[in-house]
Amino acid sequence: MQNATTAVEPIVGIDLGTTNSLVAVAMWPLTGDAAARAPRVLPDDAGLAMCPSVVRFGEGEPVVGVEAKQRAAEFPLTTVGSVKRLMGRSLADAAGDLPYLSYKVVAGPAATARVEVPVGDGVKVVSPQEVSAYVLRALREQASARLGVPVRKAVVTVPAYFDDAQRQATRDAGRIAGLEVVRIVNEPTAAALAYGLGLRAGSGLRDQVIVVYDFGGGTFDVSVLRLVAGEAGGGAGGEAGPAAAADAFQVLSTAGDTHLGGDDVDHLVMQWLLGEIAAEAGQEIAAVPGVRSAVQAAAERAKIALSDAESTEVVLPLPGGRRLVRVLGRGQLEAMIMPLVERTLECCKRAMRDAAKQLAGESVSAVVMVGGSTRIPLVRRRVAEVFGCEPYTAVDPDQVVALGAAVQAGVLMQQQAGLGRSAVLLDVLPLSLGLETVGGAVAKLIFRNSATPCRASEMFSTSVDGQTSIKLSVLQGEREMAADCRLLGTFHLRGIPPMPAGIPQVRVEFAVDANGVLSVSAVEQRSGKRAAVQIVPNHGLSAEEVERIELESFKHAREDMTRHRIADLIANSALDLHWINRQLKQHAAKLETASREQLEGAVTRLSELAAAARQDWRSVSADEFHKVKESLDRASMRLHEVAIAESLRSQNIGDR
Ligand code: ADP
Ligand code: MG
Repeated sequence: MQNATTAVEPIVGIDLGTTNSLVAVAMWPLTGDAAARAPRVLPDDAGLAMCPSVVRFGEGEPVVGVEAKQRAAEFPLTTVGSVKRLMGRSLADAAGDLPYLSYKVVAGPAATARVEVPVGDGVKVVSPQEVSAYVLRALREQASARLGVPVRKAVVTVPAYFDDAQRQATRDAGRIAGLEVVRIVNEPTAAALAYGLGLRAGSGLRDQVIVVYDFGGGTFDVSVLRLVAGEAGGGAGGEAGPAAAADAFQVLSTAGDTHLGGDDVDHLVMQWLLGEIAAEAGQEIAAVPGVRSAVQAAAERAKIALSDAESTEVVLPLPGGRRLVRVLGRGQLEAMIMPLVERTLECCKRAMRDAAKQLAGESVSAVVMVGGSTRIPLVRRRVAEVFGCEPYTAVDPDQVVALGAAVQAGVLMQQQAGLGRSAVLLDVLPLSLGLETVGGAVAKLIFRNSATPCRASEMFSTSVDGQTSIKLSVLQGEREMAADCRLLGTFHLRGIPPMPAGIPQVRVEFAVDANGVLSVSAVEQRSGKRAAVQIVPNHGLSAEEVERIELESFKHAREDMTRHRIADLIANSALDLHWINRQLKQHAAKLETASREQLEGAVTRLSELAAAARQDWRSVSADEFHKVKESLDRASMRLHEVAIAESLRSQNIGDR
């Protein structure tokens, strides 16, 4: 067994995209820390994960990626992008795509489409496979550099509608790049795998229908998949899985539009900006080529900004030292692009109708979002409305296909190593989920071994007067302090109306669906302000890791409890002391001397103890801390009465 493990080579997952490509890995190294083996993209030397699928030919070695893309406008005839549109197709098949390509496409052997680029005095004719191979080679090299071992094997994704010739062409591209393509996986299937769908043992699982909505830069694809429970099963208890996780998925239908994407959104914003320029500076200015390319870049920037902000300012320098300044609101953008979004939804309806013929009335259990354009809030909202469920957005939509390919590659590596499947494949949550509280303790909302789906909620508040935003850190694990748990994600609830500490009521809800995807939402009750995040808690978690975490928590159980108690006491004492000190300043004179002195003594004792606990929690006894805090509570009763009486009096005066 040992030898088998050491002999296994890494297998990477590659998303060979029309505009961008990525490489990722999972379960590598084969044994060790789960966090280190989680699915992750492998960036290039500059730290960039996405490699533009663009190759520029010339006298020497072709230029690949970012540099080729950046100077594409300068070299339209020798820069080859979107070559995926030609893979494995005849010139006649590709005819509809040719108007969108800047380079020349000619017929090669057997009427296949070839790229013809001018080089020196002559021309060079290359196959789409060869062009793609340059991109794949770049990805192979960056993967080898990141992993520190030569990478020779890959799982590569293709659109679900690719036919045999297109799939074979993709394999050939891999071979030319020195990669054995051990598996071709459909892009929508990979996206589902990235969410852990199709990896769970069969126990109690029924067939599920999954929709994958992929809205990228130039294309839109929707696929309806059936996840077949029986094949995914491989027996309860997570023994060796099926030959490949992807085999658990059937493609029921696909639909889409090969010329509908984020580029079209940019185009609409661009049209609007050009209109504004023409109105302000004249038609001729709007037609200057330099202005057009600046407007195009500004349009995409504005669109991306509006995925987070409600409005954005566009500033465009114009010839003659002038400039155009416009504010674009999210609502305005939404009105512009609504027809595009509706077109994607029409495709969804068509795909659902086609799939319905093969379905026995099952309903959609998950909608997975793929592609950069799914970051647009309108897109998310409309998809949620049409399918009647919150779509999955937890995994980066740019990376989800590559990560899923890596998950599949990980399953294959585990099998080759004879390790069986060690991913966590349970219908229960293996580890507790909670939130970090003030002072670094953990408030657990959902406990380990809860059956999924499940939900829980709890009220939280602020710890500082006038606090208008709260940072929420979502944690996984059994330990009592946040630092000893796994941080799954953070998000901010902003726009809370300023109130004294402890007054705002923030309801935090954790909901885990049947697929193990966690949605966390926080709502401030008075203002209705809401923030939410989605997370896949079991990403990259192995059975051994769960066991290790459990053992650790047993080992530290007693100490952890004490520490948690002290952290809570510190936080609560701070709130109390803050309030009491403020009231004392105002009302000290109205207190009887004896009760004032008693209160001041209690304040001093608790302040000292809290300060000592902050320095070193081991230096104080939790029981004593608790007693001192209680004695302050008692000593402050009289102050409360006085403060309330005063506040009533001042209200009455105000009422008149
Ligand atoms: P493809 O699958 O065609 O290679 P991608 O999935 O990489 O495309 O998506 C690229 C598109 O996503 C571009 O049009 C880009 O402008 C858009 N995009 C990226 N980030 C955002 C964002 N935050 N908001 C809106 N659109 C975005
Ligand atoms: Mg894509």
